[in-house]
This record gives sequence, structure tokens and C-alpha cells, in this order.
Amino acid sequence: MAGRADNGELCGGRLTIDLGAIIANWRDLDRRSRPGRAAAVVKADAYGLGAHRVVPALASAGCDSFFVALPGEGVAIRPLVPEARIFVLNGAHADTMDAMIEAGLIPILCSMEQARFWLAQGGGTACAIQVDTGMNRLGLTVGEAYTLASDDTLRGKLDIVHVMSHFACADTPDHPLNRQQIESFQAVAAAFESVESSLSNSAATLTGGAHGFAMTRPGIALYGGEAVPGIANSMRPVVTLKARIVQIRSALSGETVSYGATQRLDRDSRIAIASVGYADGYPRAGSGSGVPLRNAVAEGLCGFVARHRAPVLGRVTMDLTAFDVTDVPDAALAEGWIELIGPNRSLDDVARASGTIGYEILTSLGTRYARRYRGEGRN
Ligand SMILES: *Cc1c(COP(=O)(O)O)cnc(C)c1O
Repeated sequence: MAGRADNGELCGGRLTIDLGAIIANWRDLDRRSRPGRAAAVVKADAYGLGAHRVVPALASAGCDSFFVALPGEGVAIRPLVPEARIFVLNGAHADTMDAMIEAGLIPILCSMEQARFWLAQGGGTACAIQVDTGMNRLGLTVGEAYTLASDDTLRGKLDIVHVMSHFACADTPDHPLNRQQIESFQAVAAAFESVESSLSNSAATLTGGAHGFAMTRPGIALYGGEAVPGIANSMRPVVTLKARIVQIRSALSGETVSYGATQRLDRDSRIAIASVGYADGYPRAGSGSGVPLRNAVAEGLCGFVARHRAPVLGRVTMDLTAFDVTDVPDAALAEGWIELIGPNRSLDDVARASGTIGYEILTSLGTRYARRYRGEGRN
């Protein structure tokens, strides 16, 4: 598994994660959050990139607040950042409370019931409140938030250190719901007076900064992903993924490739078989163009061999994927590796070719890669 082979020889792919780029992206987002500060959303193992490396790197750059989804994720990173604030987005429950208190995690309470329960069981330890201003996912209703803000017996006894809400459409800056949510949350935050607040995710931070609140909560932009489709991505790319070519074969025009025999070659071809497949998170939905899976979107995935484009042929399989390298010169193929994500093929190119978003590609990256971390500075 990860790290066992020095240069990835024993693995099907090499995944390189640039911690220096993550730090540079956080600093950029932190600047855009002024006069507020940027926290870092590191849920789902830092979007699949390894919270055990990402969190200390960001802490060394000055990030002091982290958001995870689950209590277990918070418990796992606590020893890495003893001083930092760790917020748990998915709330508190009777059977998670003790572990959260012990690890010094801050639950983001998302209902009146949770607020009462935290007070009854947890007493005075720090908590945060999520308010739902239009997403209909987690949080107190705006009405409940006002009730809580003015309820001295409840609010007075809770140690509320943060109030937050979440945009539903931040990646569509013109959507009317954005303005509505900003106004609604401004009023709620005012009712909580001096309590620190946050609203912006990556997309909102890039288009409007902190929107007047004290903190932002970027995730995907830290990891180099495109937060706002259609706007040039100014973040530094973080992930490079190369797959080992395990065989190069020749096939004749008219023959078919991979399961289902759905891709028929229209010329004599040279095919590179790479040892990465959907079990590694290379999406089956990105199978070659002309494959029935792809009837909705014409073009499927492609790799690059030394700047030469190599489209996926046929269906992506569990451990292997076929690429058309007919037009790739021998000298380039001699290297023996094909770029799946990197300078020639962005994370979001891969996502688009698979009918999904960069978030899903990152959080699906498998455990079989030889993972390497670069540019970690002092860590
Ligand atoms: C995941 C998440 C974020 C980060 O969103 P990005 O789009 O990745 O920047 C921020 N806030 C909440 C509540 C989230 O669930």
C-alpha cells in the first residue's frame, strides 16, 4: 500500500501531492478572506489527500481552525494539532459526545434539540451553531436561531464560539439564492452579536471573500480544484497521478477493446494498458467515447504520454485501463508511465469527462497508489 515501494514500482500508480501548493492556496484564500481569516476544511481525509500530512502542513503555515465532518476525523487529527480548533460539521449525538469532549472538539450543533442536549450533557464546553439559510441540509431554521439567540437560559449557559451557515449555490455567483442567504445570515449573525461567524466556502471566498464575516471555510480550492466553473482557476494544482504502462499491444482495425466489446477500432492501433482502474478511483463513467456508458457525453477520459494525448479505449476496468497510443512516438512510450492527472490533464478535466466534479474524483482516489508528498517546508 501507500509508501511501500520507493518509486511506485510495486504499485499501479504514483500519486504525488504537493503540500507546498496547498499552503500557497491557503495563503491566497486567507488573503482573500481579510479582514477575516481562512480556516481549512479537511473532512474526508482532507478530500482524499491525507489529513495526516495536510493538517500539520497547514498548521505550520498559520492555519488554526479546521473543519471535519465526523467526530472520528477530529479525534484522528487532534494529536497533530494540539492547539488548533477542530469543528465537527455533522453535529453531536448522545453516543459521540464524550469522545468529542475528551478530544477537545467543537461540535457544530444543528438543531434546538442538540443545543439542549449539549447543555444538559456537556455543560459549558465550547460549541458552534449551524443555521440553515436555504440549503435545507443541516442547521437550525432562521426562526430557531433567533429564538436561541434571545433565550437567556439556553444561550447564556452554552459556550457558543462560532455561528455558521452554508451556501447552496456559491458556484453559481448570479444565483438569486446567494443574496438571500447572505442577508438572512447577516441578520442572524447580528443577533449573536460578538460571536465569530462564517459563511463562505471556496467558491464564495473566491468571488466575494468573507462577505463581512470573521472566517471563511474553503475546502476544494485548497486542493487545487475548480470552485467556480467557468472562471479561470487561479489555485495552484496539487495532485499529479501517473499510471504504470504494463503492456503495449497492437490491434487491427475492426477489432474491439475491453469488456462488452463496445469500442471498435477504426484504424490499426497501438494500445497501452495501464495498471490503474476504477478500484483506484479512476472512474468507469469516463470510459472511452463510443462506449454505451458515454452516450450522454461524447468524449471520455484521456491520458498523456509526454504531452501526447492518449484517449481511453473501451471500458475502464477494475485494475486496468486501455489508452490509444497509436500517435505517441516510441521514445515517449519508453518512459513506461502515463499521466492521468497533471500538467496536461487537470483534475477538473478528469471530472468533466466522467460526468462528475473534482470533489468526487479526489475523495475517490484509491489506497493502492504509491503516495508521495512534496514541498512540505519545515514539516
Ligand atoms: C464541505 C464544506 C465546505 C467546504 O466547501 P468547498 O466547496 O470544498 O470549499 C464548507 N462548509 C461546509 C458546511 C461544508 O460542508
